[in-house]
Amino acid sequence: MQTKINTAQEAFIYWKAISIEERIAMVEELKKVLHQNREQYAAMITKEMGKPITQSLAEVDKCGVLCEYYCQNAATLLQTKHIQTEGHENFVTYEPLGVLLGVMPWNFPFWQVFRFAIPSIIAGNVVMVKHASNVPESAESIEALFIESGFPIGIYQNLHLSSDKVADVIAHPEIKGVSLTGSEAAGSSVAAQAGKHLKKSLLELGGSNAFIVCEDADLDKAVASAVNARMQNTGQSCIAAKRFLIQQNIFDDFTEKYKESISQLVCGDPMLPETQIGPLARVDLAIELEKQVEQSVAMGAKIVLGGKRKDAFYEPTLLTNVTTEMPVFKEETFGPVAALIPFKDLTEAIEISNQSEFGLGVSIFTEDIDTLRSHISKFEEGAVFINTMVKSDPRLPFGGVKKSGYGRELSEEGIKEFVNIKTVVIH
Ligand code: NAP
Repeated sequence: MQTKINTAQEAFIYWKAISIEERIAMVEELKKVLHQNREQYAAMITKEMGKPITQSLAEVDKCGVLCEYYCQNAATLLQTKHIQTEGHENFVTYEPLGVLLGVMPWNFPFWQVFRFAIPSIIAGNVVMVKHASNVPESAESIEALFIESGFPIGIYQNLHLSSDKVADVIAHPEIKGVSLTGSEAAGSSVAAQAGKHLKKSLLELGGSNAFIVCEDADLDKAVASAVNARMQNTGQSCIAAKRFLIQQNIFDDFTEKYKESISQLVCGDPMLPETQIGPLARVDLAIELEKQVEQSVAMGAKIVLGGKRKDAFYEPTLLTNVTTEMPVFKEETFGPVAALIPFKDLTEAIEISNQSEFGLGVSIFTEDIDTLRSHISKFEEGAVFINTMVKSDPRLPFGGVKKSGYGRELSEEGIKEFVNIKTVVIH
């Protein structure tokens, strides 16, 4: 470990000294190699964690879009800012911090890493990544991609590390910050260690997004979006819609249409291009999901569709008669399970939506956007998406509140998380 940290530190001295344009040129090259190898990477992602192949390809391509965004915009985002005061001259510069640690999850094995690494690296930092232990080939391929693209050794390093060793890395004096995407338990442990050593941390944790459909919404549009919002990545997404709050007058209609659409999803071999729902990433994850559903059913939930597991496959499942005490409401369900709950009016929908420990995002479908605007501040969320599902976009900041974490990735906010915002005053 010490050798890798030394390598990173040496690389940082070189990397921070070159211009941002030179760093961007290397990311441009990386984007090209990423594109050339897209099919190979996608097949590997699918093999390692079961994501349907078309979605793996989309994930790799989205990494390219992220590279493009920061190549186009980073120099402007990190431009020195001049501020007028009564002093002679004041300006703010954005300087890299040094060696950063990323602790990353398996659900989007490329995207999560890119989201952390690319802006950090363009800003002049160097990174070390401890990836999830069930995606070792993805982890190694990303490091190999950096080397193949011409990056000097040490700008991006993959760490083969078990999670109980992460604390030692954070404690190392050369590590200047840590970004974790993962579960609440991992986040709390990493944040505690970072706090102990007074290091900057960023946490992207779980979510249990509400998806609210008001009676005036375009129902077909809402249903189509609800399918995607819950079922993409076979439900294994932090920003997936998990709790569906449907206004009582349209509850039965919505349920019927949603059931009909979900029952048409093609489930099976994730390597086949027609497959929309594959297995979950590991059998233990499917067993955990099964337990959450079974406990909820024992508490009175009704299975409208699905509810069965075979090995790592869990059927797309719809539940009604859901109460706020049930695991499918209170906990994050990381698989294709939708909990449907009726609500009376928007005030009640906001109340139910906020009854969650998480606060990553919410979708609301309504034709009355003017009324909704005055309610936006009432949602305890990092993102409010109206008439569309919550999704990440390199141009928009991404992150949560409450137990969904803190800090932001993507956009201007993301690239400024791991920089020294240096104030210079010249009298
Ligand atoms: P996880 O078990 O927390 O693992 C995430 C990463 O943390 C892995 O590299 C894991 O290593 C490591 N880790 C686990 N426990 C740790 C500890 N005590 N100390 C240090 N590192 C530790 O999460 P996951 O199951 O891979 O991912 C699913 C979770 O991530 C869900 O809750 C999901 O909502 C969340 N997520 C959030 C976002 C977001 O942007 N907000 C995006 C994607 C996923 P090992 O694999 O070696 O255990």
